[in-house]
Amino acid sequence: MSADTLHPTDMKWLEKGVFGIEWSDGHHGVYPVRHLRLHCPCAACTDEWTGERKLQPDDVPLLIMLTDIEPVGHYGFRLRWSDGHDTGLYAFTKLRRMCQCEVCQPNRETTPKKPASRRLL
Ligand SMILES: [Zn+2]
Ligand SMILES: [Zn+2]
Repeated sequence: MSADTLHPTDMKWLEKGVFGIEWSDGHHGVYPVRHLRLHCPCAACTDEWTGERKLQPDDVPLLIMLTDIEPVGHYGFRLRWSDGHDTGLYAFTKLRRMCQCEVCQPNRETTPKKPASRRLL
């Protein structure tokens, strides 16, 4: 049992715009699709050398939809998007790290119901 055998065992929509991936290590991955699109690993969206994100949040439609998921070998997925983008190859290891569940991202604001302390001026 080594880390490179990590792979999805099941995939489903958890809610509208949030994709769930069950991993072979038993983890329940949570992936808001817009987050996946914003962190597209292709050269047009992410700088290959620095890993810096070139894509700005404004570049991605708010209601971006995942239109297709195509397996690439045994190591990842190619995701197709409603904005026509389809060059991102998401390796499983990378995808696993992108998980947005509360365990993986304890500091992320996963509950937007809490009133944000924001100045009104
Ligand atoms: Zn891309
Ligand atoms: Zn997670």
